[in-house]
Amino acid sequence: MIAEKMIPFVQNNSAIRTMFEEGNRLKKQYGADKVYDFSLGNPSVPAPDCVREAIVDLANNEDPVILHGYMNNAGFEDVRETIAQSLNRRFGTDFSAKNLIMTVGAASGLNVILKTVLNPGEEVIVFAPYFLEYGAYVKNYDGKLVEISPDTETFQPDLEELERKITANTRAVIVNSPHNPTGVIYSEDTIKALAAILEKKQKEYGSVIYLISDEPYRELAYDGAEVPYLTKYYKNTVVGYSYSKSLSLPGERIGYLVIPDDLEDSETVIAAAGIANRILGSVNAPSLMQKVIARCVDAEVDVAAYDKNRLALYNGLTACGFQCIKPQGAFYLFVKSPVADEKEFCEAGKKYNILMVPGSSFACPGYVRLAYCVSYETIINSLPEFKKLAAEFSL
Ligand code: PLP
Repeated sequence: MIAEKMIPFVQNNSAIRTMFEEGNRLKKQYGADKVYDFSLGNPSVPAPDCVREAIVDLANNEDPVILHGYMNNAGFEDVRETIAQSLNRRFGTDFSAKNLIMTVGAASGLNVILKTVLNPGEEVIVFAPYFLEYGAYVKNYDGKLVEISPDTETFQPDLEELERKITANTRAVIVNSPHNPTGVIYSEDTIKALAAILEKKQKEYGSVIYLISDEPYRELAYDGAEVPYLTKYYKNTVVGYSYSKSLSLPGERIGYLVIPDDLEDSETVIAAAGIANRILGSVNAPSLMQKVIARCVDAEVDVAAYDKNRLALYNGLTACGFQCIKPQGAFYLFVKSPVADEKEFCEAGKKYNILMVPGSSFACPGYVRLAYCVSYETIINSLPEFKKLAAEFSL
């Protein structure tokens, strides 16, 4: 007997599991190098050396009672201060340790802030396509997810629809840039226009509308693209960050929230978020990883490797006749399905051992997502197969 709320999640999970098992079956049958698995957003470049060096040094030299002990629910103060100073150097902000709460990755950070601010029935607005887990997180606190339709020309947020859909009941808007699944980066003009709408609506309703910036891909930006730091444009912004992609540490579950002083009633929100971290069951972010992050705060993964993959896949697919927006960041390509039902296209891809995720998994049917966090060889070897797939759809 499981809770009713869980039933749709269990049903949906079996679709994901089927895809995962299908990938494993194909790899067994044809060999891993003959399967072009673009389905998973798992980083393919290793964590930088400083991560291993920090782990070894901390394990050897740090007092184990402190290294593995409990601390403030928000995390070690020195770690939070180090990250705050790094943000200040990079983005001209003015944060200190108290503005940061270390979290168990971005997923946990989003849950912490939603638990902190959301009352049952209040609305959280998201822009399709979006990371479908947002829906689950909002449901965790009995909120209501409100979707804005995709702008399939640019995949920038449709701000006219946003303005129409904000109500007195809107508590938060989630944005994600660089974006999963399209790879677009929200421009500074977009952010300014978005901030102006939120300011206007807050005044109109006498409410507080939080802008939650989910940014695990911040560091994965190409061709020198700028990723605006949103706290500078709108004071009720909360940033959710993660090292899953920026340091290739998704299994280590480490990230943070930034709750600026400028945010309405900031001190209460910060205190409540620390408690939310605890009572959601995370208690605090992993202690060893917090200390590792402090030592690797300005380290980077080899973004050039993703960039090389991005160009090879984008150029290869467009040469075959596929249509997709050129990604500026993250490690995804969002390709227009040549048939309306993109699941049919995904099925056809499997004949050539190509695994893709249907856009309906991001509330945007008619498209497929390819995660190019794979080896460069996988991309190069997949291109002749994509050519055959394109021919099947007369491209
Ligand atoms: N938000 C987006 C847009 C993501 O793509 C992901 C993971 O892929 C997450 C949040 C969760 O990241 P984390 O592993 O840090 O919890």
